[in-house]
Amino acid sequence: MIRRTVNFPSLRKLLLRPSYLSSSKIGAYNGYASQPSPLPIPDPTYSDDDEYANVDWDSLGFGLMPTDFMYVTKCSAGQNFGHGQLNRYGNIELSPSAGVLNYGQGLFEGTKAYRKENGQLLLFRPEENAIRMKIGAERMCMTAPSIDQFVDALKQTALANKRWVPPPGKGSLYLRPLLLGSGPVLGLAPAPEYTFLIYASPVRNYFKEGSAPLNLYVEEDFDRASQRGTGSVKTISNYAPVLMAQNRAKSRGFSDVLYLDSNSKKNLEEVSSCNIFIAKGKTISTPAISGTILSGITRKSVIEIGSDLGYQVEERVVAVDELTEADEVFCTGTAVGVAPVGSITYQNKRVDYKTGSGTICQELCKTILGIQTGSIEDKKGWIVEFD
Ligand SMILES: *Cc1c(COP(=O)(O)O)cnc(C)c1O
Repeated sequence: MIRRTVNFPSLRKLLLRPSYLSSSKIGAYNGYASQPSPLPIPDPTYSDDDEYANVDWDSLGFGLMPTDFMYVTKCSAGQNFGHGQLNRYGNIELSPSAGVLNYGQGLFEGTKAYRKENGQLLLFRPEENAIRMKIGAERMCMTAPSIDQFVDALKQTALANKRWVPPPGKGSLYLRPLLLGSGPVLGLAPAPEYTFLIYASPVRNYFKEGSAPLNLYVEEDFDRASQRGTGSVKTISNYAPVLMAQNRAKSRGFSDVLYLDSNSKKNLEEVSSCNIFIAKGKTISTPAISGTILSGITRKSVIEIGSDLGYQVEERVVAVDELTEADEVFCTGTAVGVAPVGSITYQNKRVDYKTGSGTICQELCKTILGIQTGSIEDKKGWIVEFD
């Protein structure tokens, strides 16, 4: 049974009250970088009191489903972000000379809010996303929100869109924080103004395979990251360059691309948007963080859970040749969770892996998902509960 929480409808009601909307908190957002959407127009298809949006929760994938509100705040370079506000979800306005549009000065993050049976919402290690954005912002010469503001903004965004958080067991509300160089530049330089924004979309399975095993293709013609580059940063500029390799792999029937290190092409790095692990016997190995690999929060958590469960966990150089010997391979990331890999194709040779019941991958997946959804007790202080 799902208990109706009092905060959610009252927050929504407050936000939708015309007097509130015309007050200085919402609606008086001025500036060229980002404008609020027009005043909310009541959506005739739902009542503000509805506990759930009108969604077929059983057919969720990982596509964008716009929700009611997005969090927006901005600041001048080097200043602190002001209190953000929840605007209606909608287009933002940017100068054509915005740093993000011209020079790719932007970062993204991703985390998920789960709904518990009692109606409370859960976030998983959100301060880790905040820290990663701060570190990334330094590398990209951007101004970042504080850890507290970042986490508070995630909570506000999730609560304001609570009716879009799927029922327990049906998925989660994916939260997508963005940090954008929104101020105008012409010559190459950091933007003079930054926008911090969070939008949300209900999601379930990332890959079209659902929870079926992935078939990966080892890419040798393209690199994802280079030594001393930005591979370890969740900058938007790392992702369009991998689309071509991803498209090519998908057109050949593969699920995604597995990248090797750009120097020797002998060692595993990661998949387009998730980290990789191999398992052999009781040992789990994953490529060590070296500056070219994105330091996933799921990766870090799986390393800890794996050793708690009695496995030997190694962060080290993992040679591509080890793929032929591994019992299991799996991917980790917020979007994919802990996803089994059924096969990897390298230099025209396909190697198949153990998947399904009794695998280490499944044990890790169940454990981390249990913690994230509140069905397994969190003994590590990883969960933030709120309503
Ligand atoms: C986001 C991302 C990951 C996974 O990070 P999580 O914090 O676990 O979601 C891994 N690799 C790349 C390239 C990513 O962008």
